[in-house]
Amino acid sequence: MTLLEIGDSLLLKGSPSTLFYRGDDTVYIVDPGHGKKRVKQIRKEIKGLDASRLISIITHYHSDHHSAISQGLRELLDKVMAPRLDAPAIRDPLIRVSLTFGMPLPSGDPLLPFHAPPIDVDEGLDPGTLLGSLEIVDLAGHTPGQVGILTPGGVLYAADSIFGPRVLDTYGVPYHFNPCRALKTLEWLRDSLGDRFEILVPSHGPLVRGGEAEALVESNLERVRGAGEALLDILSEPRSVGEAAYLLASRYSVSPSPERLMLIETAVKGYISCMRGTFEASAGTRGVMWRTSKS
Ligand SMILES: [Zn+2]
Repeated sequence: MTLLEIGDSLLLKGSPSTLFYRGDDTVYIVDPGHGKKRVKQIRKEIKGLDASRLISIITHYHSDHHSAISQGLRELLDKVMAPRLDAPAIRDPLIRVSLTFGMPLPSGDPLLPFHAPPIDVDEGLDPGTLLGSLEIVDLAGHTPGQVGILTPGGVLYAADSIFGPRVLDTYGVPYHFNPCRALKTLEWLRDSLGDRFEILVPSHGPLVRGGEAEALVESNLERVRGAGEALLDILSEPRSVGEAAYLLASRYSVSPSPERLMLIETAVKGYISCMRGTFEASAGTRGVMWRTSKS
C-alpha cells in the first residue's frame, strides 16, 4: 500500500494529494486529482480498502483536483459531491476555464495546464454541515465556494487555501479568486490550529503539524497580504491589469510565461475587486488603467 497513515485518515501523496477517509461502510475520496497515472493508483488503493460505498468529494472547481473522475474513476463511484457554489463550474468546463483564466479557452488549448473535462456532480455540499462524521469547512477565497474536510481525528484537508513553500516560490503570488476572503480563511486556519485540528494537509505541499503548521500559515498570510501591498505601490501609476501582473510577478522573481501571467492577472483582478474602493479606473490606449486612489 502506498497510502500514508495520518491520524484517522490515509493520504496518497501528489499534487494535489488525495485524502481517503473510512466512515462505517463508506470510503470518502477527497480530491482524486488528475491524470491516467493517478487513476491507476486510486483504482489499486480502492481494491485494498474493501468499501461497500465510495463517495468522492471535490473541494473546488479547478481541473487538477477532479479530472481523474472522468478519466476512469466515475464508474467505481456511488456519488460525487462538491460545494454547491462551485458545482456549476465543475459540471461545465467553459464556466470553469472562464472563471480561472478570465477567458473561455477550449478544452485541450495549449495554454491550459490540465485537461478540463465536464464532471457530473450528484449532490451539493454546504459549509458548516456534516457528511457522516466529516465536517464540511468553509475555506472560500481561492474559489468562491471552496471547502475543506475536517475528520473527527483532527485532520484538516485544507485544499488550496494554503500552499507549500515550493508553490509559493514558483508562482510568487498565490492564486486566489478573492484574496481578501482568502486572508480571512488563513486567519481562521491560524486561530483554529491546535483547537479544531492538529494536522493540516495542503493539496499542494507536504502535510504539517504544530510549529511547522503555524509557520506555513504565517508565510501564506504574509504573502497574500504582501502581494496586496505591492499592488498598491505598483498602481501608484496608472497601469493595465496585464502590466500590474507582470510587475507583481517580477517583484517575486517569477519567470514570466503566458500561463503564469494569466493566473496572476486573475489574482490582480481579485485584489482590485475585493479592495474596490481603493482603486480608480480610467480609459487609455492600453485599455482600462487602474490607479491607487489619492484620497
Ligand atoms: Zn485550486
